[in-house]
Amino acid sequence: MIGGFCDAKAVDKAYGKVVKKPERRFNAKDTASVGHRSRNPQRRAIVDARRKGSESHVIAPDLRSGVERLGNMIAEAASIVPFTGAGISTECGIPDFRSPGGLWTRNRPIAFDEFVSSRDARDEAWRRRFAMEPTFAAAKPGRGHRALVALYKAGKIPAIITQNIDNLHQMSGFKADDVVELHGNTTYARCIGCGQAYDLPWVKARFDETGSAPDCTVCDEPVKTATISFGQSMPEDAMRRATELAQHCDLFLAIGSSLVVWPAAGFPLMAKNCGAKLVIVNNEPTEQDDVADLVIRHDIGETLGPFVGN
Ligand SMILES: [Zn+2]
Repeated sequence: MIGGFCDAKAVDKAYGKVVKKPERRFNAKDTASVGHRSRNPQRRAIVDARRKGSESHVIAPDLRSGVERLGNMIAEAASIVPFTGAGISTECGIPDFRSPGGLWTRNRPIAFDEFVSSRDARDEAWRRRFAMEPTFAAAKPGRGHRALVALYKAGKIPAIITQNIDNLHQMSGFKADDVVELHGNTTYARCIGCGQAYDLPWVKARFDETGSAPDCTVCDEPVKTATISFGQSMPEDAMRRATELAQHCDLFLAIGSSLVVWPAAGFPLMAKNCGAKLVIVNNEPTEQDDVADLVIRHDIGETLGPFVGN
């Protein structure tokens, strides 16, 4: 039963619908609880199996022992797939939009269909993005990014899956092709019609000139940051690639994600179902701590810093 979800057809069946059209729309009231236990019979299977066996010592009692156990698991693993969320970038100055007091609790996110149908919404989306530019432009990779790229360069990590849109894994030294971005990238723009890429200074110049967000010069459709908005289809190539990575690693590291945004949060479970060990590093408890092999509830930089000597 646990192995069933590792079957590619089962994955397609479970994800196909969500990939094409996300079932769940963002609701400002439930930023902290977007995850659904009920969607995950495979998760319940793991928890039930654990309850029958041993569930001791999953949560590291302190940072030092957590780092030591993580180090041993990294040393034993042949293929490690990291999956990163906002927590790895907070020490780089990128806010966690979803956190209490974060941008999304003050400014309701603009859903994809609203962006498409309303020029005012597009203008507002771009005004917000330009307001964030000093923050994104100043951000540099942190200790977590540096630790992961060291493992990548050592041949332990084939590619990384991220929910982040900040481009910091690429800046740290990952090849762009080896960063699987589930929620896109905010450091450039794309036409939502033909996919033509635009750089942000081009968009800003047109916006400043006309007072409004520009349309594509090729096909006249709206130009949007290359991110995945609420209500927008998940990127199929990235979902497929993340699925393959989750299915074929022996250690899956979920880092800095509260694992509440679906379908991205399905990948740690998928890896676990396919036989990988699952480690969760996050300051706060996550939705999936009870299926993990090791949980380290500490700061990401402090946890991963020792792997790059700081
Ligand atoms: Zn276009």
